[in-house]
Amino acid sequence: MNWIFDAHIHLSDEEYESDMPFIINCMEKMHIKACSVSENYDTSIKTLELGKKSNLIFSFIGIHPQNSNEDIEQVLELVNSNSEKISGIGEIGLDKTYEDSDGGFQKQKQIFTAQLSLAEKLKKPVSIHSRKALDEIYEIIPSYSIQGMLLHWFDGNKKQLQKAMDLGFFVSFGPVMIYANDKQVLLSNTDRNKILVETDGPVKFSKCFGLKPAQISFIPSVIFCASKVLRVPYNEFCSLLEENSKNFLGI
Ligand SMILES: [Zn+2]
Repeated sequence: MNWIFDAHIHLSDEEYESDMPFIINCMEKMHIKACSVSENYDTSIKTLELGKKSNLIFSFIGIHPQNSNEDIEQVLELVNSNSEKISGIGEIGLDKTYEDSDGGFQKQKQIFTAQLSLAEKLKKPVSIHSRKALDEIYEIIPSYSIQGMLLHWFDGNKKQLQKAMDLGFFVSFGPVMIYANDKQVLLSNTDRNKILVETDGPVKFSKCFGLKPAQISFIPSVIFCASKVLRVPYNEFCSLLEENSKNFLGI
């Protein structure tokens, strides 16, 4: 039986705290592994602890663009001193919607590039947030040599998707793809060996999800829908996703 990977979830979020033993149990039963990303120093510490609790959890440590005012040195030091326990760097990236000044966006770039340098040095994959900033990310990335690069919750146009493929990115699709036709079109245009799936939990999704915070158990539904869109049998698609996930993680 294949292992299913949720390529991007925030398991350190308070939403999951009291349910964690149940979530890990559910992951074992459903054969799900997860890349759990952090957003700041505190969630990085929590994410490291989660990775120690279960070998189904791959810890990604980083500063989210929303927190670019935080002390980057503290997180870089945490990554350096725990590099064997860390599977990747994330959630890092750029997001223009958080800034109303150019100075703020420049600060985001500094934090982002410092974390890319560290990922390159430690040979770790990166989980990237790219809302309204794909083109800026495409300018920055070629300066770095990083094996696994994920544009999580890909939200660009077809041209930007092609550019992502040309630059060697993985892209992930989540619950929104189940009810959004434009995401299904993007999925169809993605190179098969670059597709990953995610929940981005505990984000709340609308329509059929009724604004319930996303659970890791949503992931088979995302895979089922994507397999229908791509007209690939479910099991065959699970094998492909497992292969892609391992390539992204370098395992
Ligand atoms: Zn996220």
